[in-house]
Amino acid sequence: SSHLPDARPLFSFAARSGVPAGFRPPPRRVVVTGGAGFVGSHLVDRLLEQGDSVIVVDNFFTGRKENVAHHLRNPSYMHGYEGKVVANFCSLCPFSIHINVLCFFCLKFGLLNTLYKTNVMGTLNMLGLAKRIGARFLLTSTSEVYGDPLEHPQKESYWGHVNPIGVRSCYDEGKRTAETLTMDYHRGGGVEVRIARIFNTYGPRMCLDDGRVVSNFVAQALRRQPMTVYGDGKQTRSFQYVSDLVAGLMALMESDHIGPFNLGNPGEFTMLELAQVVKETIDPMATIEFKPNTADDPHMRKPDITKAKQLLHWEPKVSLKEGLPLMVKDFRQRISDE
Ligand code: UDP
Ligand code: UDP
Repeated sequence: SSHLPDARPLFSFAARSGVPAGFRPPPRRVVVTGGAGFVGSHLVDRLLEQGDSVIVVDNFFTGRKENVAHHLRNPSYMHGYEGKVVANFCSLCPFSIHINVLCFFCLKFGLLNTLYKTNVMGTLNMLGLAKRIGARFLLTSTSEVYGDPLEHPQKESYWGHVNPIGVRSCYDEGKRTAETLTMDYHRGGGVEVRIARIFNTYGPRMCLDDGRVVSNFVAQALRRQPMTVYGDGKQTRSFQYVSDLVAGLMALMESDHIGPFNLGNPGEFTMLELAQVVKETIDPMATIEFKPNTADDPHMRKPDITKAKQLLHWEPKVSLKEGLPLMVKDFRQRISDE
């Protein structure tokens, strides 16, 4: 009714006429699931830096306390394990944004059997929460939704080529279902949503031994072990530096567009080319060793980022040759601490 103040729109409100110069809107509360992980923790850094307060929900299974340790004394920061924190959300965060950085593909830790369930149930619960508190929900989906693509490079309009019963399907289909749930809650439940499709990303704080190609090659070269190239090494990926991804996620969060948006670096490399770059960066004597490839491995992957460029005014800035040394510095430190 008319005597009640308007609900405060999240983003447009500083831009309203009559706001005094220098006025800063109160901090937003942002929930980041998976916020102690590789991508999540970099996002948390940026959010706190810009004055938001952050609640990280993480089971610290693949996420690491070290990644968020520098925030523990910050009064705008808190973290907790699912059950404990989630129960209190309703009272904690009216008008929050919700971000979901949930469950990246991690072979080493044998997550495969629960990955589908984690993606689907986790997303469902967070959507239920977002609906109840009126939060904006950002889903971090993945380029894996395109499967082993028959279209190259991949545009957001491509529906993908996924084996529903293959070894990777728990991840591919998990994120596809998460996208479906997100759109369902948007259309049916009126939840404000955003969807990002994240392409291969690397940088400091990546898991040392999660089996991903960049972390494997870098750790192997630093330990003077041969770099393991799977298959013939001619399959391609496009590698994005983590700060570019975070900038893309922030731009998407603030934008009026639902997406999905591809967030990735269009620079495409074969695994042999990647091994060469790692060799040049770390050790000219580094060697490679061929190993059998995993089933259903996508032959090529490269984002078409026209949509993000046009609508989010975003594009990656850091090339592989610039970004890799930044990751190597972090890996060198962590490996020498082992
Ligand atoms: N949910 C949750 N925490 C919350 C709010 C919801 O875990 O703070 C869960 C809820 O238990 C349900 C899911 O999110 O399993 C979807 O919520 P929704 O309200 O859509 O479904 P309902 O509760 O009606 O089954
Ligand atoms: N790969 C490789 N050596 C490794 C790990 C991965 O050659 O030690 C290959 C893998 O077969 C795939 C590519 O690198 O073709 C990317 O694998 P990753 O798991 O990093 O990412 P995703 O397949 O999820 O894009």
